[in-house]
Amino acid sequence: SAYAPPTATRTTCGYCGVGCALDVVADGGRVTAVLPARDGPVNDGHACVKGRFAHGFLTSPERLTRPLVRRGGRLEPAGWDEALERVARGLRAAVAAGGPDAVAAVSSARATNEENYLVQKFMRVVVGTNNVDNCSRLCHSPSAAGLTASFGLPGGTDSFDGVERADCLFVVGANPVEAHPVVGARLLRRALEGAALVVADPRAVGLAVHADLHLRPRPGTNVALFHGIAHVLLTEGLADTAFLRARATGLPELTELLAGYPPERVQDITGVPAGDVVAAARLYGRAERPAIVYGLGVTEHRHGTDGVRTLANLAILRGAVGTDRGYGVNPLRGQNNVQGASDMGALPDVLPGYAKVSDPSARAVAEAVWGAPVPPRPGLRLPGMFAAARAGTLKALWVIGEDVRATDPDANRVARALDACPFVVCSELFPSETARHADVVLPAAAWLEKEGTFVNFDRRFQRVRRAVPPPGEARSDFDIVRSLARVMGADLGCATPADALAECARLAAPLFGGLSHARIDREGAVPWPCPDPGAPGEAKLYGRGFATPDGRAHLAAAPYLPPGEAPDDGYPLVLVTGRRWAHYNSGSMTRRGDGLALGPADFLDVHPEDADRYGLRDGAPVVVESRHGRARLVARIGEETAPGQVFCAFHFPASGVNRLTSHHADTVTSCPEYKVTAVRVSAP
Ligand code: SF4
Repeated sequence: SAYAPPTATRTTCGYCGVGCALDVVADGGRVTAVLPARDGPVNDGHACVKGRFAHGFLTSPERLTRPLVRRGGRLEPAGWDEALERVARGLRAAVAAGGPDAVAAVSSARATNEENYLVQKFMRVVVGTNNVDNCSRLCHSPSAAGLTASFGLPGGTDSFDGVERADCLFVVGANPVEAHPVVGARLLRRALEGAALVVADPRAVGLAVHADLHLRPRPGTNVALFHGIAHVLLTEGLADTAFLRARATGLPELTELLAGYPPERVQDITGVPAGDVVAAARLYGRAERPAIVYGLGVTEHRHGTDGVRTLANLAILRGAVGTDRGYGVNPLRGQNNVQGASDMGALPDVLPGYAKVSDPSARAVAEAVWGAPVPPRPGLRLPGMFAAARAGTLKALWVIGEDVRATDPDANRVARALDACPFVVCSELFPSETARHADVVLPAAAWLEKEGTFVNFDRRFQRVRRAVPPPGEARSDFDIVRSLARVMGADLGCATPADALAECARLAAPLFGGLSHARIDREGAVPWPCPDPGAPGEAKLYGRGFATPDGRAHLAAAPYLPPGEAPDDGYPLVLVTGRRWAHYNSGSMTRRGDGLALGPADFLDVHPEDADRYGLRDGAPVVVESRHGRARLVARIGEETAPGQVFCAFHFPASGVNRLTSHHADTVTSCPEYKVTAVRVSAP
């Protein structure tokens, strides 16, 4: 046949929340190179090792290329017709046994917006339940709750382009040099240009080396730290009283609470020297254009929502949000489309665009577009789904693009839930830990193999385009959901991803009414809110008022409360989990291909004092035990972690890190407390 020259396809990286634009070169249906787009709206010609090189997984021999169905206890290859018929039968049987609420779906940041939109529509319209959640439950659900409570909308307040003009960067509970490298580099560049850099993180993360001030609070004490800084802002006259009078509420209650958080008491709680609390407040409070950037070190706590809200207090006290006097409060999303999965309504309590399912007028809008009733009762959150499975009330679970068995906390309990659930379906790229529990496994297309859009961490819609075809019989989740609906006798409409976004734009017009694939194709990136096809989206929020019911920013007077568990004689160390630069989440993509050479194992970072105390050697195996389970890792001895703390990632499910983590969770959103687990270590 005639030679076809390589083609390049512009798409958006499917790994972290930065959302780098990439030009993907393919030849003969295989990706041969990935180049960072010079005109990328966010990445400006840059990309990190994951986006650039971690595409070898596409052609891994372990890719699922045919559906699998369980026969006689074994998963065996099947055709799509049989697999979808089995799924339809399983869901119908679950509904017959326990009603529509006996079925649940876990959607995903691995799925495009359009796929998330269809999944939640399928669950609400075809199954008749609001039991749909997504992986934001495990990471940034406290951001959505906290930012909504403080300002009115569940996204970061400013675009990152604005943040780059800040003269003080307060980076909290985040390691962007490893987890969001392109943004990490941009933050570092800004600091080197002269912006003050204050880092608050228990570990000596990459940016801390360059910081003017590195605060190292004990894990789980953020709320006290933020109150200490707020205390100094108020007592030293650094608050913007005119802004507070005109645009905020809650100052009297907060002032009363903050009287109990002088820097000396904050030092006792957090371990951060009182002088450093004062110094941080002065750097942030005296800056002309301060910005806050934060990560999962703020959210993945028992009081994660309070953490977000009390961090937002600082921006409100300074009048640094919704004004030209600062760049607000900005979450670094871990997964590229975790913002979008929530925006599309893959959540148990809200429809696309965050309208409450419990609100009859919101349901009426959706019902008019969908031509079908929407159940009024909020559904189960992800941990509630597992609890319901263990209790026997959840009869069918569909897990899409998530290896919940590997990544959810207290993995032994998750395994029991999956075993207890009578019918489990997985849409997956690989035979994952979760897929081993499934009755049907559906082979899914990866982000380089499908069409749609993602929303990145600063609320920008960007296009996802198919650079290569999926292997074998694998299909996009978009096709899978539509096909399953057809087998179940329903028509979801939305023949293409563009149709799905158009329908979502009609349904959630205040946020997305101006969005379409054609527009995103033209403009490259469009932020929400974008209600008008003829006007730009809002990169910086709240210039015309806050989106709260009273139009004001709400200060939060939330007291500091301790984490869910504390170290004791039996479990004397605190384990913090997070990410490393070469890998991504459970590593299912980055461990396949070249990633293993860059990060060959999950390491446990241990301070030399603790290594001496517990007889650990650098590079040698270490057993870690918590009150919940046991894991085996490789010790890495260094001073990145403080004495009394250990750190590891969760990129190698076989090491069992999430067997260690606890079921303690944010009291508002159920986000797991991944950042505080009491453990002990020993040499095997
Ligand atoms: Fe960019 Fe994040 Fe992808 Fe790296 S992983 S290329 S920083 S989007």
